[in-house]
Amino acid sequence: MAECLFCQIVDGSIPARKLYEDDQAMAIEDVNPQASVHMLVIPKRHMVSLDETQETDEALLGRLLVVCAKMARERGIAESGYRVVANTGREAGQTVFHLHFHVLGGRSFTWPPG
Ligand code: 5GP
Ligand code: ZN
Repeated sequence: MAECLFCQIVDGSIPARKLYEDDQAMAIEDVNPQASVHMLVIPKRHMVSLDETQETDEALLGRLLVVCAKMARERGIAESGYRVVANTGREAGQTVFHLHFHVLGGRSFTWPPG
């Protein structure tokens, strides 16, 4: 989608600090980090949110979560613990409507989330 921020990051027309890329997925640094480690794992294909996914997306969703875990290990937050978040829809706080998993670590988090 031409006007989608993350599609423009995927196609290179908007710069981002890219951490990982394969044929289906990309990991980037969040521009406004909420923890010392705050990465975003996104599908290259535009999809609005988890709410738009179907059974045919199972392999892609699995890939995205495997990339989350791999990035957490690479950044050294796997042992202490980290949080993976997919804000889905307006009341959940989603602001960019291209599916993304936040991977946050390097500090303690509270539960329940605000
Ligand atoms: P959401 O609120 O949709 O769950 O998360 C969107 C995330 O995208 C936020 O954490 C925000 O900081 C991040 N973000 C917004 N614009 C940009 C950008 O231009 N580049 C990068 N790397 N992250 C962005
Ligand atoms: Zn998009």
